[in-house]
Amino acid sequence: MTARIIDGKALAAATRAGLVPRVQALTAAGHQPGLAVILVGDDPASAVYVRNKVKACEDIGIRSLMTRLPAETTEADLLAHVARLNADTSVHGILVQLPLPRHLDAQKILETIAFDKDVDGLHATNAGLTLMGTPHFRSCTPYGVMKMLESIGYPVAGCHAVVLGRSNMVGKPMAMLLLAANATVTIAHSKTRDLGAITRQADVLVAAVGRRNLVTADMVKPGAVVIDVGTNRTPEGKLAGDVDFEAVKSVAGWISPVPGGVGPMTITMLLVNTVEAAERRRQAAA
Ligand code: NAP
Repeated sequence: MTARIIDGKALAAATRAGLVPRVQALTAAGHQPGLAVILVGDDPASAVYVRNKVKACEDIGIRSLMTRLPAETTEADLLAHVARLNADTSVHGILVQLPLPRHLDAQKILETIAFDKDVDGLHATNAGLTLMGTPHFRSCTPYGVMKMLESIGYPVAGCHAVVLGRSNMVGKPMAMLLLAANATVTIAHSKTRDLGAITRQADVLVAAVGRRNLVTADMVKPGAVVIDVGTNRTPEGKLAGDVDFEAVKSVAGWISPVPGGVGPMTITMLLVNTVEAAERRRQAAA
């Protein structure tokens, strides 16, 4: 068997194109969606991610406000900046690029973002609403994975989904969205015993760990859908996922590549959340 490819890049392009008329309608009505992105420090990878997000906004007509703060920014200054953006009615979404310098308490900063501008879906209120099955904003990466499953028409209800990883940003919200879609969900992590015995039961396997080639062909059920969230660097500096793509694609039914899989969908869902936030504001103002 050779797996079919879930083309995240193509799905992202189509989803972004679908947002353009919504952005135009909002802008014409005086509610141009606005996303504020805060970057603290000089981490080169974070700078690239932020640049990509700003460009993605501009490409479809979302206004982006980029703030770059020095690494030695105090917590008080950063909190004050977030508070100003909370009060700015032209801003519909606020994103603080992670990781933050070590002296800043990331969770405290995230909790300061108004929950109805938390387009990354990382505020405790949004995490809690996702847990209750009534999300206000879905966390971008898991939301993108759900759209990828939808795009291949996969019947998630009743399937056994295994999520590798239990982070607040990816693993846990991923499991909650799959559960809300009526999958039977298993969450595995670094302390899980006999990982292969669990992954081999998966109809849908989502790998969100950050270990290159963790998922090998013998760990995958024939015909399964394998979605690779992981981003790792090869010794040659190339981007690679958590899944041994070449070997697993001869076992799986569907597989997402890295790059060109989940990554483009994550940024896309940030745009979707920002547009949804602006549409809610417009409705509330009507
Ligand atoms: P994280 O916070 O480091 O969490 C990693 C998770 O993997 C933890 O829950 C950890 O378990 C688990 N884990 C570690 N070793 C394991 C093993 N041998 N077997 C099973 N589970 C293991 O990372 P994250 O933020 O969730 O991100 C995960 C990966 O996705 C990273 O590579 C990240 O770069 C990537 N990512 C990609 C995108 C994208 O758009 N493509 C977006 C976000 C993240 P414990 O909890 O027990 O430590």
